[in-house]
Amino acid sequence: MNKQILVTGGTGYIGSHTVVELQNEGFDVIIVDDLSNSSIEVLDAIEKITGKRPAFERFNLADREKTGAFFENHQNIDAIIHFAAFKAVGESVEKPLEYYRNNLVSLMNLLENMKKHQVPNMVFSSSCTVYGQPELLPVTESTPRKPAESPYGNTKAVSEDIMRDFSNANENINCIALRYFNPIGAHPSALIGELPVGIPNNLVPFITQTAAGLRDELKIFGDDYDTPDGTAVRDYINVVDLAKAHVVAINRLLKTKQKAAYEYFNVGTGNGYSVMQLVKTFIEVNGVDLKYQIVGRRAGDIEKIWADTTYANKELGWEAEKTLEETLESAWAWEKNVRNIK
Ligand code: UDP
Repeated sequence: MNKQILVTGGTGYIGSHTVVELQNEGFDVIIVDDLSNSSIEVLDAIEKITGKRPAFERFNLADREKTGAFFENHQNIDAIIHFAAFKAVGESVEKPLEYYRNNLVSLMNLLENMKKHQVPNMVFSSSCTVYGQPELLPVTESTPRKPAESPYGNTKAVSEDIMRDFSNANENINCIALRYFNPIGAHPSALIGELPVGIPNNLVPFITQTAAGLRDELKIFGDDYDTPDGTAVRDYINVVDLAKAHVVAINRLLKTKQKAAYEYFNVGTGNGYSVMQLVKTFIEVNGVDLKYQIVGRRAGDIEKIWADTTYANKELGWEAEKTLEETLESAWAWEKNVRNIK
């Protein structure tokens, strides 16, 4: 029998790409999502890509009763990948309680039911935000975490701690946190991708929407950083590469190759690109015009960060494969598909 994976937040950006890779590898998937930041049509797209429609249930995992009832009705789950969370940094500053309640309570409800129903494995979406601005680059897994800059960032740090403590306290529970760098791009089919509600906060969706004519111009936040061209540097990872890292982590848990009950890995490419380099690459590979203007720094932004991926490469046997060029092509192909641009 196929192993069954519960993917929370499975209709979202990273979740949907991961469901595709899981189904391609022969896993059965059940998605739980409240559709607060994604749409049900994603299921059609996943079915088109993989030939298989994942099971789906709509509810919010911070609801303890509904989460408990879900596990009562699904006794054959082998592992959970937990994506479902609020993720807007700025909004988390305005609405801290909503962020803590949604992100932390949903994790605790899942862990509680893992114990009750003997679901031994969880992969969790963490973020390089837990490193803040590191003193030394690139960051390894032993780079110390820094106090979070936002309630959102703090939910990731606290979630890691909860998983560590819970898996240490329960012999049969194992968890892996994947610390994502900056996920961008879309599936090569252009059938799934990032579709933010309202004005995008993130760089690549803002770029593709500007190229598509939905926004007047891109604002580049700051050109006075201590970087080669003065714009901020990030490690941009293709979302399909990132999705595949989840499948690898699931296989590690299912085959009990982990070294400790709780493990965490950097998931990036190991390469840092500046905002300006990314913008220029986007224009070049896609042959489009893009109006942009340099403005002041954005509050809370860090100057530069990129991953040391040695440990993830060695321990997981996983490596990012796609180039920035093909990733930015895929981002534009997706935006064109969404906006019906030829
Ligand atoms: N950025 C920008 N203009 C935008 C959005 C983002 O110049 O409209 C910059 C931002 O300042 C950062 C980089 O692009 O240096 C990546 O930002 P994003 O919000 O995508 O990810 P973050 O690293 O902040 O989580």
